Amino acid sequence: MDKIKNNVAAAWKSVCLDLKKKLPGHAIHAWFDPIVAVGFHNKSFILEVPNQFSLEWIESHYKDEITLSIKGLFDKQLRYQLLVAKEKKAALKESSSNRSYLKTKIKRFNNLNDKYIFDNFIVGNNNEFAKTACESVSNNPGQQNFNPLIIYGGVGLGKTHLMHAIGNNSLKQNPNLNIVNITSEQFTLDFVNSLRKNKTIEFAQNYRSSDILLIDDIQFFRGKEQTQEQFFHTFNVLYQGGKQIVLTADKFPGEMKGLQSRLLSRFQSGLCVDVQPPNFEVRVAILLEKADQNGLMLDYSTIEFIARHIKNNVRELEGTIIRLLAKSSLLNIEINNELVTEVVKERVGGSIGNEISIENIVKKVSEISSVPESDIVGKSRKMEIAEARQVSMFLCRDIMGTSLNNIGMFFGGRDHTTVMHALKTIGEKESTNDRMKRMIMSIRKELGISFL
Ligand code: ADP
Ligand code: MG
Repeated sequence: MDKIKNNVAAAWKSVCLDLKKKLPGHAIHAWFDPIVAVGFHNKSFILEVPNQFSLEWIESHYKDEITLSIKGLFDKQLRYQLLVAKEKKAALKESSSNRSYLKTKIKRFNNLNDKYIFDNFIVGNNNEFAKTACESVSNNPGQQNFNPLIIYGGVGLGKTHLMHAIGNNSLKQNPNLNIVNITSEQFTLDFVNSLRKNKTIEFAQNYRSSDILLIDDIQFFRGKEQTQEQFFHTFNVLYQGGKQIVLTADKFPGEMKGLQSRLLSRFQSGLCVDVQPPNFEVRVAILLEKADQNGLMLDYSTIEFIARHIKNNVRELEGTIIRLLAKSSLLNIEINNELVTEVVKERVGGSIGNEISIENIVKKVSEISSVPESDIVGKSRKMEIAEARQVSMFLCRDIMGTSLNNIGMFFGGRDHTTVMHALKTIGEKESTNDRMKRMIMSIRKELGISFL
């Protein structure tokens, strides 16, 4: 026991080595590598974990494994105890005790998510302008040309992230700012409650005392006339006082329905910036970042596979990473191609390869075989052309299950027996001929339906 006490770190390291034999590598990487053994007390290892989430996850998933390893290596009486890292606790304590009365009052509203910052917002041409405008507003809130700032675009594209990043960054520069951050639904609820309790004056004062007012998803003001009325007055007071207003919406204000036109015209007098779906490279960058943030090591082909299939929504990309992590941790298996395919399929809600068409297949076969597309669907019997055609037919059947007749019709009006012959020939070659195997594999990969 004394030996352990004198060298807790070494003792804990041997526990980790033992755990490595029992648990998948990503679990060790995500949950155990960040643990720091800080002491030994009452026959227990005192282990520091980075946050509450890790603490709960480790306790609920790995308690037995840790206990067994410790007992197996040392003494049956030994235990362990997890603590959330001290610095964080101390920092939290300090920041809350430093807050003045005013700040405590603000706290009710200021539920900024400290994970939504500019530093971890990945920029591509789909959101570059929006991010620049947001940064500028956060560095210099209230400048007339950028007031109000409206961030608009589809679901899961980073509007809320940017809005919170404005709040976080402004607060970093000036901790005294009164930042009110709220969703339009909370605003409505707050207003309705104030009506109920005859406290509309307090309600108005609360909002009108903000230096920066952030309201998320203003499309939900739709049809709520009295709330819009209140919001209009709040807006005017803040605007005239040179206070910054930032709003997010699902559409360009000019296209929003159910909001009063006087509000919409005010919105358009400021700056409207949009966020668009990310392109392939940005999706890859986002996946790499999110995997890293979650302590997950994925190889590039997996990242690329996910990025090819999950296209329209950053939240979905993030969700895929979390789901992979959760599934592999719960089932206690390494992340393999099968698991990734399964998770991606769940996410896209059906089979992978839905968007592939005969034209796509012919295009890829043409690129890889260097036979022009027009020849593949033409009549020529030249050997390399006929082979590219047969490969295309084979893939149409294999990937999309296209009927023999339809395949025949597309490839120069051939009958179904010709197609059957092609499928048989290529099927055999794929299992016996290395060149053919490689060619089919790379076409599948290019079409985004395989990893290898
Ligand atoms: P929206 O409000 O547009 O529906 P969110 O801001 O809630 O979308 O974004 C959904 C998730 O995707 C969040 O977890 C956010 O951090 C993340 N996200 C969105 N865009 C990016 C980006 N460009 N870089 C990093 N993370 C992003
Ligand atoms: Mg949002």
